[in-house]
Amino acid sequence: MADRHVDALIVGGGIAGAACAAALHEGGFDGHVLIAGRETDPPYERPPASKGYLAGTMDRNACLLHDDAWYARQNLELATRTSVMKLDTAARTATFATKEVVEYGVALLATGANVRRLRVDGAQLDGIHYLRALGNADAIRADAEEAEHVVLVGGSYIACEVAATLTSLGRRCTMVMLEDAPLSGHFGPAAGRFFAELLRSRGVELVCGDGLERLEGAEGDRVQRVVTASGRELHADMVVMGTGAVPDAMLARAAKLELGETGGIACSASLETSAAGVWAAGDVCEYDSVLHGGRVRIEHHEVALAQGRAAAAGMLGTRRPYAELPYFWSDLSDWCTAEWVGITEAPEREVVRGSVDDGEFSVLHLAGGRLVAALSVGRGGDLAHARRLIADGTDLSGREDELASGDLEAL
Ligand SMILES: Cc1cc2nc3c(=O)[nH]c(=O)nc-3n(C[C@H](O)[C@H](O)[C@H](O)COP(=O)(O)OP(=O)(O)OC[C@H]3O[C@@H](n4cnc5c(N)ncnc54)[C@H](O)[C@@H]3O)c2cc1C
Repeated sequence: MADRHVDALIVGGGIAGAACAAALHEGGFDGHVLIAGRETDPPYERPPASKGYLAGTMDRNACLLHDDAWYARQNLELATRTSVMKLDTAARTATFATKEVVEYGVALLATGANVRRLRVDGAQLDGIHYLRALGNADAIRADAEEAEHVVLVGGSYIACEVAATLTSLGRRCTMVMLEDAPLSGHFGPAAGRFFAELLRSRGVELVCGDGLERLEGAEGDRVQRVVTASGRELHADMVVMGTGAVPDAMLARAAKLELGETGGIACSASLETSAAGVWAAGDVCEYDSVLHGGRVRIEHHEVALAQGRAAAAGMLGTRRPYAELPYFWSDLSDWCTAEWVGITEAPEREVVRGSVDDGEFSVLHLAGGRLVAALSVGRGGDLAHARRLIADGTDLSGREDELASGDLEAL
């Protein structure tokens, strides 16, 4: 027996969950909506956790998606510090950690992702940080106040952004990564060379093509050294691990929902899960993408937002394939902003427009004669054209010179 009924239950108070709630309201949903989120903060933006919030230039309130008055105006119940422990999709009930049982009409699983923890010797030492929530950023900033040398493990955007932010705060940062160059896994080799040069020029030491072997402590329990796979020893007053994220599908798995290959919740093109009346959105959603021609799971802020809105449209009765072109951005302190649109992170060929040396360039990624992704630093105008060329699937075979230096509008 349920303790109470809600018309829409949203599990997870991240950007995907909050966007779904807002879109339900805008779309005229007149039932009771409940967002149940495990964190103590109301829904907030995660990107500042490695940028302005970590730097101390943006306060906690500025990260919040909405103020209290907004939730009251939307007739929306927000339950923070509330974990949903169990979902019974046949009975359409959810059991909270408080033991309360809530019956729902429709539900959204927007449970996001958790950091990928590396199990290496020394992983339990003090002074080792992962970054997902604002609280983690608080801990990193507090520790950084006492630290001189910071080692960052990883070559993707979290490690790069944190290295840039902490360097701007006067710390000496060293990055250890498997990749040949920072961000090259996401953005390709040409961009990787640019980011390597940029980070080095600002004083970040890069150890590329090398992995983490173990972490070693001083006499106490605090980390003091990072030892790499090649045997290099790096002094570390603290360590930040930027080693990726894994979808949080615990609730879905226990409810026997179908999962996808990457461990996310398997969804149809319109983001419906294998259980009737249950949608998924955001980092946890592994959906059948008409753009990609198969199942994908994407960990980008704008995608989580758009998927939350698309799931709301489905709940309101407008089911259509989710087909927005993924967009992502990354800021390295105030040194540079990179923007990316596209449908693959493993392109066949790159065409560079503009000047990498001057820090104003785009890299167009081609596969099978078509544009599949584009990265831009300081050339936002190129992205609008790239969006169109990717979405239209324009055949660009043999037109590399025009792509490199011609007018993209004319293509
Ligand atoms: C430090 C950082 C910087 C980033 N910077 C960028 C950037 O510059 N650009 C960009 O495009 N993307 C960026 N991202 C990625 C982006 O923030 C994520 O893609 C986005 O937050 C995903 O939103 P979500 O709502 O799917 O999941 P989340 O934000 O992870 O929210 C899910 C929420 O669900 C809660 N939850 C899970 N299970 C339960 C349960 N059973 N009961 C109740 N609650 C539950 C979790 O506690 C969490 O609060 C960044 C991410 C991080 C961590």
